[in-house]
Amino acid sequence: MKAAVLREFKQPVVIEDVERPQPGTDEVLVRVEACGVCHSDVHVADGDWPQFNKIVKKPLILGHEIAGQVVEKGAGVKDLGLGDRVGIPWLHWSCGQCDFCRGGFENLCVAQKITGVTVDGGFAEYVKAPASHTEKIPPVLSLVDAAPLFCAGVTVHRALRQAQISPSERLAVFGIGGLGHVAVQIGVALGAEVTAVDVSEEKLALARSMGAFATLNASSPDAIKSIRGRGGAHVALVTSASRSAYESAFNCLRPTGTLLAVGLPAENVCFAPVLMAAKEVRIRASTVGTRQDLREVLALAGAGKVRCEVVARPLVDVNEVLEELRRGRVAGRIVLVPPGLEQSRNSAVGQTG
Ligand code: NAD
Ligand code: ZN
Ligand code: ZN
Repeated sequence: MKAAVLREFKQPVVIEDVERPQPGTDEVLVRVEACGVCHSDVHVADGDWPQFNKIVKKPLILGHEIAGQVVEKGAGVKDLGLGDRVGIPWLHWSCGQCDFCRGGFENLCVAQKITGVTVDGGFAEYVKAPASHTEKIPPVLSLVDAAPLFCAGVTVHRALRQAQISPSERLAVFGIGGLGHVAVQIGVALGAEVTAVDVSEEKLALARSMGAFATLNASSPDAIKSIRGRGGAHVALVTSASRSAYESAFNCLRPTGTLLAVGLPAENVCFAPVLMAAKEVRIRASTVGTRQDLREVLALAGAGKVRCEVVARPLVDVNEVLEELRRGRVAGRIVLVPPGLEQSRNSAVGQTG
């Protein structure tokens, strides 16, 4: 099969012919129809996170926002059938035994496997995954539209749920990219007053079209003043990989507000304890989500409350797409589509085109 293979950090990935994976007893083989390109793929490919680099498989097929069809299954798989439309998330497998798995935090499993990091992912024609961590996609969603929910969607859904934002509270979203544009919609659906902050006017326009109450260009010196002028944000969600976004987010919080850390810049961020204490701010971080979080965000999308702004591109464009993300040029999400599948097979059940 064709796959985009990363052999070394900071090198372009190369489209190669590799062996098609064989599903084990409890696994399914999925024919990939769309795989979102997340900024985390850029961080992994560039070796941005020193704490993480040692667990990265090499050579590696990146990609952890996978949607496709089950084409083979192991003898032990009971709940999925051939032809089922499914997705595979970042959380490839969790043990079910450790304290975190048993305590409702399987996304923190100490033995977890990660799609497109510790095991091969979806920038390929086929990928295998444990049936237990493979989720069915609602029939109303096309596979192209559903793919980004498997990381971008589930991540911001969990983060905002953890922040326990109430209707009419002020939510500032820093970074209106793949994650942020979904976060704006979830914030709006929760009844929050959402302010979207980005450095790109195109992305701010997207946020407005998705119901943001206000939009601010992060490069304007008045951006933070304007949020503070309304009393400050109850929750400032950072979905940007920029350190300055963290600084601005911290500065726009109201007393007792929550800084919600989701974007993962390569460099450290630093806040003055005297300012943290003076406002009794809370700092809360969130990582991807559990299978339950994933089911919830799939249900929201199935009900039309959340939609991803998606552009499909051929798998061979993978290096250009990674570069566009590095340069902040991607509005919404780009999904990669393997050769021969660019046409109608990506449509929702019962739809054409
Ligand atoms: P993206 O590139 O699609 O979006 C990032 C956005 O930030 C862009 O729109 C960019 O214009 C904007 N931006 C850049 N500088 C800014 C600034 N100073 N202020 C405000 N906005 C600014 O990326 P993405 O795929 O949405 O991922 C974003 C980050 O989230 C990455 O670091 C990624 O690794 C991380 N991530 C974390 C998790 C998690 O579980 N915590 C999950 C997925 C992704
Ligand atoms: Zn991701
Ligand atoms: Zn576990």
